[in-house]
Amino acid sequence: MTQVSFDNTEVAFKHKSDAKLKQAKWLFSLFNYKWLVRFGPGLTAFGLKLRLPIKGLVKQTIFEQFCGGETIEECNQAGDVLYKNGVGSILDYSVEGVEEEATFQSNFEELKRAILTAKSDVKFPFAVFKCTGIGKFDILEKASNGSLSDADQASFDMMKNRLEQLCQIAVDSKVRLLIDAEETWIQDIIDALVMDLMRKHNTHEVCIYNTLQMYRHDRVAYLKKSIEEAKSQGFQLGYKLVRGAYMEKERERAEEMGYASPIQPNKESTDAGFDEALTICFNNRDVVATCLGTHNESSSKLLTELMEKEGVAITDDRFWFAQLYGMSDNISFNLANAGYNVAKYLPYGPIQAVLPYLGRRAQENSSVAGQVGREMSLIVKELKRRKGVDS
Ligand SMILES: Cc1cc2nc3c(=O)[nH]c(=O)nc-3n(C[C@H](O)[C@H](O)[C@H](O)COP(=O)(O)OP(=O)(O)OC[C@H]3O[C@@H](n4cnc5c(N)ncnc54)[C@H](O)[C@@H]3O)c2cc1C
Repeated sequence: MTQVSFDNTEVAFKHKSDAKLKQAKWLFSLFNYKWLVRFGPGLTAFGLKLRLPIKGLVKQTIFEQFCGGETIEECNQAGDVLYKNGVGSILDYSVEGVEEEATFQSNFEELKRAILTAKSDVKFPFAVFKCTGIGKFDILEKASNGSLSDADQASFDMMKNRLEQLCQIAVDSKVRLLIDAEETWIQDIIDALVMDLMRKHNTHEVCIYNTLQMYRHDRVAYLKKSIEEAKSQGFQLGYKLVRGAYMEKERERAEEMGYASPIQPNKESTDAGFDEALTICFNNRDVVATCLGTHNESSSKLLTELMEKEGVAITDDRFWFAQLYGMSDNISFNLANAGYNVAKYLPYGPIQAVLPYLGRRAQENSSVAGQVGREMSLIVKELKRRKGVDS
């Protein structure tokens, strides 16, 4: 088998017209303006509140780059383009920040709709959600440290009930369901609840996936313990492996509150932990299904190599690669072109409500050491190739 090349920009951007590619180049270049990245989301939210006519501009630029639409229906177009190129979509309802029961209930209704949409449409191979989308952060925190009052318990039970219902609907619909990982101080309770749900539902095949953040130095041990548990109790595990999105926040809190940081000391140890977890999941594929949530080329390559070495079919359903919409198309489309299982998170929601998500994407793409250099150089390479000028 020939190795997948992540440098093939023709495959990576086949789905984008010249105009769209130039627009992406312009957008990524804006992320170099630190002040814009820092204040842009806040100013945009303010402008939208004042009803300034900026919604169209936002929608046609940063929103279009990173989101599928404001509704599931609007996501169909982006989803169809991905699917035509062998890439699935994961509807990701990305509304954040409102801590009210009514909002949690309406999020829950929307998540049900997303799962049922996935049931009837092959272009959506997974569904996904965050527990903080269906329940209060501080209740999850109290449940994690065992300090729920009687009044809190009712709120916790509502969240748990929504979680259980979403899993049941996913199982009944035969839709794989990813549950995102969040801050360490709410993650213990999420892990405990999701482990119970995997024990209940992942009996014959894996439908429920928890997420492991490999920037945490305790996760390899946790993974090994979970595998022992699954083997001895006769159920299967689903894990989405990620590096982790809350590093600064985690370190700051640990420092402020005077406990040892849960985060690996440096990037190298996070990378090593990620690849070790991937190898453990792969070697235990009789009980673990893996979704590799990463934009890291080396880790993505590692999974293709392990699969090749052990003669695992590239279409084996236990292995999926996942990236975010609008990022790392070179990984997604080259893997899909070679026949691997690939899906992209396709965030959606009302513009105002997804601004925090867009702010994080802008932030992530603004560091010179980070993704922006890579995204930009690939776009430039492809534009040159199309003009017949090889870079
Ligand atoms: C499909 C998908 C789903 C995701 N789901 C989740 C989720 O549920 N929960 C979640 O938290 N995140 C999630 N993420 C985000 C993810 O955790 C990473 O933040 C992001 O993908 C960047 O990591 P990387 O592996 O793609 O790439 P890389 O660029 O190779 O890695 C960057 C990551 O390395 C780690 N890192 C960087 N510097 C250091 C350092 N000095 N010390 C230690 N570690 C360091 C950080 O985790 C950083 O995000 C998801 C990402 C994808 C693509």
